[in-house]
Amino acid sequence: MIKKISDFNLDNKKVLIRCDFNVPIKEGKITDDNRIKESLDTINYALDNGAKVILFSHLGRVKSEEDKEKLSLRVVADKLSFYLNTKVGFISETRGNKVEEAISNMKKRDVVLIENTRFEDLNNKAESKNDEMLGKYWASLGDIFINDAFGTAHRSHASNVGIASNLEDVGVGFLVEKELVNFEKVLTDPDKPISLILGGAKVSDKIGVIENLVHKVDNILIGGGMAYTFLKAKGYEIGNSILEEDYIEFCKEMLVKYPDKIKLPIDNILAKSIDDDLGFYSTIDANKEDMMGVDIGDETVKNFLEILNNSNTILWNGPLGIFEHSSFSKGTKEVLRGIVNEDKTIIVGGGDTAAAVISLGFKDAVTHISTGGGASLELLEGKELPGIKVLDK
Ligand code: AMP
Repeated sequence: MIKKISDFNLDNKKVLIRCDFNVPIKEGKITDDNRIKESLDTINYALDNGAKVILFSHLGRVKSEEDKEKLSLRVVADKLSFYLNTKVGFISETRGNKVEEAISNMKKRDVVLIENTRFEDLNNKAESKNDEMLGKYWASLGDIFINDAFGTAHRSHASNVGIASNLEDVGVGFLVEKELVNFEKVLTDPDKPISLILGGAKVSDKIGVIENLVHKVDNILIGGGMAYTFLKAKGYEIGNSILEEDYIEFCKEMLVKYPDKIKLPIDNILAKSIDDDLGFYSTIDANKEDMMGVDIGDETVKNFLEILNNSNTILWNGPLGIFEHSSFSKGTKEVLRGIVNEDKTIIVGGGDTAAAVISLGFKDAVTHISTGGGASLELLEGKELPGIKVLDK
């Protein structure tokens, strides 16, 4: 059984919380602080319950000493102080006297943030390779460990798996709990019919998801760049559209085995190149050899919405076109618009899909937007996440 933060008596305990503060930073400024905001419920709960709160997170990839300045978590500590309305002590080291002293001086309801856990990667990748001594050391700094970083739950690192393996009292924070509850419900006991929407660039990234879910879902609607390998497998002209030759056979096999379940675009928007923003409408059977498919067309949107409107649960991973270009975001937008006002469970996973839903203005209209791209894909593939499994004591 995996415990939740609310299962523990936190009073006067040193509570280590692994957060996901991997925020985008430009010229020393945080450009999107959503991840910080999303961590507040768990941190506030720990503080309200009298804990001494010790926060860990990674930020970017640290490959050299020079990376350290731009990947310091100091800016996050400032932002957190603002949102928590209390001073967050920043510890500019990841181990040693400075860390130990700061923690031993903590009082109830104090909060500190330890420097970027990936600074330890300069030390033989100690964080990313889950160095045994490092996990043990970090665990020795606290009494209870709470994992609230879903985005790294599919990785076995010292700051999640390492710490959790060395403490008895471990559990999840509110953010991870919400992710697990939502995915578990749709993967084990969905309100049927259930449809899966897959898009994005590559078939190869989604093979595991297709194989795991094809027996569980009623429909798989495929758009985006990945649709073109399927269309090629059906014999259509796809011009310069994105193609993964090595996966044509897989697509053929799926189309033969599940002809009624897999739905492909029947029309699309073509462009001369990925950087062009002038689109031309074409039905799939009239595609041109010198153009590429960049969005699904209106008839496909209509077809997809007919199926989706008859579904009670919708799982979505991958945009249906190059949504970053406003001229090619229509398909993704129209499908979203067509499903959000209905009384449905809609779970959106994957970094780009989440970005599409948020940037197109539908954040509050879906049931759940997953904060973890890789982790949510692995859950859809039916895999166990090491950062979660280790919490099951
Ligand atoms: P993924 O990370 O696999 O979900 O892929 C997301 C990316 O797929 C986004 O950056 C989209 O711009 C891209 N994408 C969506 N549709 C297409 C398309 N038809 N051709 C090329 N790239 C696409």
